[in-house]
Amino acid sequence: MQLTSLADLLDLQEIDLQIDRLLEQRQSLPELAAYKSAHEELKRVETRREGEAADLRELELELDKAEGELEILEAKLEEHETRLFAGGMSGRETEHMRLEVQSLKGQREAMEEKVLGMLERIDPIRATLAETEAEIARIEGARSELETSIKGQWKTIDAELARKEERKLDALAPIDPELLEMYEKLRQIKEGVAIAVYDHGVCGGCHMALSPAEQEEAFASDLPRCVHCRRLLVA
Ligand SMILES: [Zn+2]
Repeated sequence: MQLTSLADLLDLQEIDLQIDRLLEQRQSLPELAAYKSAHEELKRVETRREGEAADLRELELELDKAEGELEILEAKLEEHETRLFAGGMSGRETEHMRLEVQSLKGQREAMEEKVLGMLERIDPIRATLAETEAEIARIEGARSELETSIKGQWKTIDAELARKEERKLDALAPIDPELLEMYEKLRQIKEGVAIAVYDHGVCGGCHMALSPAEQEEAFASDLPRCVHCRRLLVA
């Protein structure tokens, strides 16, 4: 009866070890590490994009303002010139207006240079931002491919796990509850191996030999245990 139970326990452990391996495989897919680094890279590049976009917005606002000022200057200049050409002013007024037009032309030239300078600064920032956007799209694409791959592999593993869990239910049925409890505890502290085959005087759990006296001592019990590693032994 006890021997049958121990052999059943060995069968159960085989299934449990297969389940352990599947769970380990599930959480250590190489794609998971790659997904994590793609995710982190994306965060970094997105932060960079925020900075570049803010710089661009600031420059564009300045440019809008400068272009607005240029328009005002041009309107003012046109108005002054119209009045000059229309004539009818005193010599003093005409001279004043002429000087005013000269000054406005100087201001317009300076503002035009300012606008050109800004356009020259904005262009490379726009190009950089476009490159960053493309980089983000590339990383998002790679991340999404990894996600698809991970989900596919998990689906396969989970289906396999469900089959093992079903087999485990059958394997559990004939086992004595107290023995099962002992088995679970031993598995937790013995790297998943609670019970080992005893073959040619050697424990299959720790691979150490038992002397004839140790063997006799171990197998005198209903539940033989290795004198070295304390795992259950089945001969
Ligand atoms: Zn042992």
